[in-house]
Amino acid sequence: MSDRREPDFSLTAARRSRELARLAGGDPVDVLVVGLGATGAGVALDAASRGLTVAAVDAHDLAFGTSRWSSKLIHGGLRYLASGSLGIARESAVERGVLMEHTAPHLVHAQPFVMPLTGLAPRRNAAIAEAGLRAGDLLRLSARTARATLPGPRRLTAVETLRAAPGLRPYGLRGGLLSWDGQLTDDARLVTAVARTAAGHGAAVLTRVRAVSLSGSGAVLRDELTGEEAAVRARAVVNATGVWAGGLVDDVRLRPSRGTHLVLRAESLGGLSTGLHVPVPGETNRFVLVLPQSDGRVYVGLTDEPVDGPVPDVPEVPESDVGFLLDVLGTALDVPVRRTDVAGAFAGLRPLLDTSGGTGGRTADISRRHAVLTSADGVVTIVGGKLTTYRRMAEDAVDAALAARGIAAAPCRTARLPLVGAAPRAALATLSAPRRLVARYGTEAVAVHALGTADPRLAAPVAAGTDVTGAELLWAVRHEGALDEADLLDRRTRVGLVPADREAALGAARAALAGAQGAAVA
Ligand SMILES: Cc1cc2nc3c(=O)[nH]c(=O)nc-3n(C[C@H](O)[C@H](O)[C@H](O)COP(=O)(O)OP(=O)(O)OC[C@H]3O[C@@H](n4cnc5c(N)ncnc54)[C@H](O)[C@@H]3O)c2cc1C
Repeated sequence: MSDRREPDFSLTAARRSRELARLAGGDPVDVLVVGLGATGAGVALDAASRGLTVAAVDAHDLAFGTSRWSSKLIHGGLRYLASGSLGIARESAVERGVLMEHTAPHLVHAQPFVMPLTGLAPRRNAAIAEAGLRAGDLLRLSARTARATLPGPRRLTAVETLRAAPGLRPYGLRGGLLSWDGQLTDDARLVTAVARTAAGHGAAVLTRVRAVSLSGSGAVLRDELTGEEAAVRARAVVNATGVWAGGLVDDVRLRPSRGTHLVLRAESLGGLSTGLHVPVPGETNRFVLVLPQSDGRVYVGLTDEPVDGPVPDVPEVPESDVGFLLDVLGTALDVPVRRTDVAGAFAGLRPLLDTSGGTGGRTADISRRHAVLTSADGVVTIVGGKLTTYRRMAEDAVDAALAARGIAAAPCRTARLPLVGAAPRAALATLSAPRRLVARYGTEAVAVHALGTADPRLAAPVAAGTDVTGAELLWAVRHEGALDEADLLDRRTRVGLVPADREAALGAARAALAGAQGAAVA
């Protein structure tokens, strides 16, 4: 008889209370992780899967911070190649392959992009861009990612370019450059999957728990739901609080940079079967990305503006960013996209390490490489980097924490550790559930779908303008640790990216929270 227990991936309010009480009761853990964005969730999974005891806390929710405001791309590192950072480019390409082929094939798919070649992309720039795409394909090869996973780049004729994006201005169009990269179904869902996988390996994953202060051997934590504080002990402490990292550890100085995206409906852009790289007029290696999503929304981004002063919980979108993005879009599209076509907008702050020594300078020039910093009393801060490389960042942070505190543990094993819901693409294709659910829940889509089969009211979209169903909201409460309406609408699902849709779905969110213990959402 085996005494091996099935992993429990479910996060619930009851599990949170139980595990928080145990932690506050004085049980020390091997590793305390602060912050549950992609980085902190990755650290929790890395440490738990090495056999260590782990508690991971977030002041708000899974993916509350920058990790939900990204472009949702799993980059192959092309941009870093262009700036001569070969090491960071290759690291991105390797991690893209890990996600697409091993750990999260359900959440990351190959996305085609077209760069229209017009007068805004003079022949010389176009030749440089094409050479870059070919070099990017070599990076894919060196990362051992199969061509079947990510097809190679090629030139398109003007007719093919217009077929991909009928809204493009045909006048002066010489053709296009087609390339492929990884695209996430949703960034917040990646974080949820990583955090739940960590929970499946025994980590206590606790939202609404703020670290008030840190030391190398523990922290004072506050339960944001009750206001109660407790001193907890840990053999190692990792600060993964992104743009907020400097508030917990002295000497960590960040230079946040704001990136804004617009949310449009695909019909406003004249239809799109690929993403677009629209050159920013007057700049050589800068593009506005047009990112079509499977739900009919299109994100258009992004800006890169330094931000000074206190770090807000949720960054505001200034009207100047909206204007800039619409202007660049207007240089490439024949269909007019007006301010009234903007259904929503979101901004995130890049947690860039201040390497300027306080001399300022463009944030676009600051390295995107991650940094692991160990404070005098042994707190390990992991900061910078990007969503794509969260796994490698986590590995480096845990290695540093173990070394700093003299803790022995198994080596990292996350490069081949599937996230909850993952399965090979061929197996995902045979699941009897709608494709939309498979792309969000992987193998768990069958169980989410079954909720709607048992109660057809749960199979219907929660509001006009979104495909999200009541079953998804109920699943989020029962298994994904959603505690309130905002968790449901702004992070487990992304209904909230369009304020009008969010308003319309509030009733369904309330019903899911009330009905989670029962059978149905009214
Ligand atoms: C506009 C934009 C677009 C981007 N696009 C991409 C992209 O397409 N692909 C890509 O790979 N990368 C992209 N990035 C980079 C990537 O999003 C970030 O590097 C990454 O999400 C940072 O994750 P993190 O976990 O380090 O930080 P965060 O996601 O910010 O997580 C930090 C967490 O710490 C919590 N916290 C803060 N203080 C405390 C405390 N005292 N106690 C407890 N918890 C606390 C917060 O609530 C938060 O949840 C983009 C970034 C931006 C800004």
